[in-house]
Amino acid sequence: MIVRPRVVLDPGHGGWESGCIVGAFAEKDVNLAVCLQVRELLESEGVRVLMTREDDRILSAGRRVEFANAQHADLFVSWHCDHLPDTEVRGLSLWVDSRRSDLWQMMMFEQLGERISQVTHQPFLGVFQIRDRILQAVDAPSILIKGGFLSHPEELSSAVTPQFQKLQAQGAAEGILGILNDVQNR
Ligand SMILES: [Zn+2]
Repeated sequence: MIVRPRVVLDPGHGGWESGCIVGAFAEKDVNLAVCLQVRELLESEGVRVLMTREDDRILSAGRRVEFANAQHADLFVSWHCDHLPDTEVRGLSLWVDSRRSDLWQMMMFEQLGERISQVTHQPFLGVFQIRDRILQAVDAPSILIKGGFLSHPEELSSAVTPQFQKLQAQGAAEGILGILNDVQNR
């Protein structure tokens, strides 16, 4: 039996909770725009994609977890952007919960980060461990992607363009498809 893989995409922030704001741009909008493109690409490959939000609305961490777990997803992907006072720092990073990640997951997510970086030509900073209550509480293997620094002028100007968002989505979708293959063959 071929089981259709299920992925939950979780665009960070929403509503009055904007994430980082730089000039006229809010992180929540970038997160949503990229996730919508990832959804399109994954669905065209036969993946069932469910999104914690599809528009600009506030959503608690608890609601995100509840939604994800109700979908019995094979993979949970949260999308965010980064921000630092130092405007020279740039690059893409992936984050896992330190209480849950194992070596297999770290390697799997490393490949996802590398794939995005190959497509977008952004530096890939690596897979890092944090304590995050969403990543910890979701049943499926869970990853948080920070797609770049909105505090870096060049990364900001690319992050807000649909063309670049499409490249990120393409890299992410290819990487996610690779992970789904691994998960199903495991
Ligand atoms: Zn964020």
